[in-house]
Amino acid sequence: MAKKKDECSFCGSPRADVRLLISGFDAHICDRCVEQAQIILNEEVTSKQQKVRKSDFKILKPAEIKNFLDQYVIGQDEAKRILAVAVYNHYKRIDQVPAKDEVEIEKSNIILVGETGTGKTLLARTIAKMLHVPFAIADATVLTEAGYVGEDVESILTRLLQAADYDVKAAERGIVFIDEIDKIARKSDNPSITRDVSGEGVQQALLKLLEGTIVNVPPQGGRKHPEQKMIQVDTKNVLFLAGGAFDGIERIIASRHHTNVVGYGKDKKQQIDKDNLLQYIAPIDLKKFGLIPEIVGRLPILTFLHPLTPEILKRIITEPKNALVRQFTRLFELDGIKLVFEEGVYDFIVEKTIEFKLGARGLRSIFEAILTDDMFDLPSQKDVKELVITLEYAEKKFNKAGLSKLMVA
Ligand code: ADP
Repeated sequence: MAKKKDECSFCGSPRADVRLLISGFDAHICDRCVEQAQIILNEEVTSKQQKVRKSDFKILKPAEIKNFLDQYVIGQDEAKRILAVAVYNHYKRIDQVPAKDEVEIEKSNIILVGETGTGKTLLARTIAKMLHVPFAIADATVLTEAGYVGEDVESILTRLLQAADYDVKAAERGIVFIDEIDKIARKSDNPSITRDVSGEGVQQALLKLLEGTIVNVPPQGGRKHPEQKMIQVDTKNVLFLAGGAFDGIERIIASRHHTNVVGYGKDKKQQIDKDNLLQYIAPIDLKKFGLIPEIVGRLPILTFLHPLTPEILKRIITEPKNALVRQFTRLFELDGIKLVFEEGVYDFIVEKTIEFKLGARGLRSIFEAILTDDMFDLPSQKDVKELVITLEYAEKKFNKAGLSKLMVA
């Protein structure tokens, strides 16, 4: 066999001219060629992935979408069905090949009404995960009209662009969740004379975005970098989901139903389930609450979430694909420890979550309160192979942790 030359077999540079020459079986490669190869590799892999992503985008049927949501979100069947249809129609609309005298399908943004912690954000996030589309959450409370202190509505799209790694085409098919939309309701039905900075003005600013328009988006966000080059994003195909608790809206629904049923006799009145008035929510209630009619019109799909019952909370602990119990079990497992919860512990956790009005978010805080000491101590104790959490032990740890910690959840 010919003797290997002491030079890079790719670029021909002699050993003396390179920093490092790596020897293979029958050839050498220099550090510069390794770097070059890495760049080529990265480019190839990314472009392949993008191709796969584009051609793989196959919208699931509504029933399949609901099945996917069921793996992560417990209950909320009405909201899931409505979302599944809306999402299916949205992406079908985007992917339709425009034909002559094609019926133009209008975009259907969605509004979710339900107490905080009932799964609104989780539903939106799960849909984005299923579709592999960029997803951004915007908090309506920090938005203000242009020119006021706070964030312009364009900042929402900055976040979406960041989630898409600045791939504008991907961002333009993304999903935005606007949280706490109820907090920008105008304070009274009469538009006030003084300008309502945080309310109606923001709703006005949001209109175009929801409907579909080309927006100049500051890629770094904010007004701190006035010299930054703007990126144009078309929101025509962005799916907007808005969510809010709309505290007190039940009263509006109830009064509407009361007027509606007058004269229909007693039976009709009894048909209304007073404990769950949200199920009767209609766009008119949102208007009464203080959303301007134009905003309500641009969020044409309206659905609601049920408050979480103890049964649902218990299922949330164990059933979702990334349920809390699975997460903590896995954490201990990584240290070689089997985590076991005895009868009654989950009920205790649910009870405390309800008692302190923590919502589903509070479940994690209670698990943390019970397990933190062990998560601190056990990794250093090699002989421990199992940790059994009895009800008594859970109560002791919970009381020791104190409530103040939980209230911040
Ligand atoms: P919000 O309605 O305020 O947007 P989230 O979706 O943020 O509430 O819910 C907070 C957390 O509570 C979620 O991250 C999830 O862990 C849990 N959670 C709430 N509702 C459900 C549900 N229906 N199924 C499973 N987990 C839930």
